[in-house]
Amino acid sequence: MADLDVVVVGAGFAGIYAVHALARAGLRARAFEAGSGIGGTWLWNCYPGARADVESKDYCYSFSPELEQEWSWSERYPAQPEVLAYLNRVADRFGLWPDIRLSTRGI
Ligand SMILES: Cc1cc2nc3c(=O)[nH]c(=O)nc-3n(C[C@H](O)[C@H](O)[C@H](O)COP(=O)(O)OP(=O)(O)OC[C@H]3O[C@@H](n4cnc5c(N)ncnc54)[C@H](O)[C@@H]3O)c2cc1C
Repeated sequence: MADLDVVVVGAGFAGIYAVHALARAGLRARAFEAGSGIGGTWLWNCYPGARADVESKDYCYSFSPELEQEWSWSERYPAQPEVLAYLNRVADRFGLWPDIRLSTRGI
């Protein structure tokens, strides 16, 4: 970890954005996620019927107009699988995977 400027704990909505924003700021950051995938609460809470109670157009990132153009939600209130797919798409789209370690506890 000596080569890092910032350690991010967790790769849910917040951690994913942190990794992206820190890289854009020129910092060497890495997220450590205990789960076997990204998504945070949307990875852990995969029971049938799990969905957001905020509208999909609001329950997403707003830092990239391109991302907003590229992604279209299939439902007004997104279900857990679609939120998880969205977050994985964000990691793909912005090349975040090299800066995320899964199944690893940070701190
Ligand atoms: C069914 C459901 C519906 C929801 N609907 C909404 C909604 O409509 N609107 C809304 O605003 N919010 C909603 N939420 C709340 C949701 O939790 C947040 O919106 C958001 O996903 C939280 O993101 P986060 O990155 O802050 O935290 P989390 O998603 O909790 O991510 C934290 C991550 O950190 C990891 N972690 C913690 N400690 C460590 C450690 N020491 N080492 C490594 N990894 C660690 C955890 O494994 C986890 O993956 C909903 C939640 C659920 C379960």
